[in-house]
Amino acid sequence: MKILIAADMEGITGVTNWDQVDPNHSEYARFRRLMTHDINAAIRGAGDAGADNILVTDGHDRGTNILIEELDPRAHLICGDFSPLAMIQGIDQGVNGVIFVGYHARAGSQNGILDHTWSSRRVANLWLNDILVGEYGLNGAVAGHFGIPVLMLTGDQTACAQASELLGNIETVVVKTALSRMAAECLPPPVTQDLIQNAAKRAVKGLINGQAPKPFTVTVPVQVTIDFNTSEQADQAAIFPGSRRLDGRRLTITADDMLAAYLAFQAAVALVSL
Ligand SMILES: [Zn+2]
Repeated sequence: MKILIAADMEGITGVTNWDQVDPNHSEYARFRRLMTHDINAAIRGAGDAGADNILVTDGHDRGTNILIEELDPRAHLICGDFSPLAMIQGIDQGVNGVIFVGYHARAGSQNGILDHTWSSRRVANLWLNDILVGEYGLNGAVAGHFGIPVLMLTGDQTACAQASELLGNIETVVVKTALSRMAAECLPPPVTQDLIQNAAKRAVKGLINGQAPKPFTVTVPVQVTIDFNTSEQADQAAIFPGSRRLDGRRLTITADDMLAAYLAFQAAVALVSL
């Protein structure tokens, strides 16, 4: 039983502002430790349930946030960048289920801590076909491309609600209740770690018992539509081969499958300056 824990940082216990997830800020050292502890709780739960092979992927910023020296030794860590599967690197390595830890609401959400989709200064909205998605949906669809279900997500109440609406009957752990974009009522780490451990145990047990949610699959070919923050950014991305400009800020790309769509999305966004 092989589980991938794909981690981001904005939805980690206690995180409410950008300083806390910025490697150049003094607050960051505390929150990368808390990130590691949230992940360790998920590893314990997955391990308790019978996962004997656990991969952790560090998906925030440059992928160098998790403290390997404090990571539960049952897991292997995929870290650093660039890797083609980015936030969900490892999904093609014979994984049976995915757990998202530290995820956040999609760009433009109300009461979502640090809500954004991939790049807060570049992407205003992202659609897969006609489905408005955040990173939970984008990465969840890549998992679905490989036939793998998302089992669980941790983050604030809005991230959990958006993921449940799209991905079905997954386990969710609300580690904080967002009161705005940068304020939340936060549960303390010992409490969230218990919640995460128990949810991960239930999630992996459910998978073992054949009760996992269905993989999230999008119909192919996949229409990736990006609404950039500015018309200038859409101008820059419009050199992407085969893309079609819809209006001032929106560009659309048709991809043969979800893996190609993921790579095209990353490439189009990489063309854009801040
Ligand atoms: Zn993110």
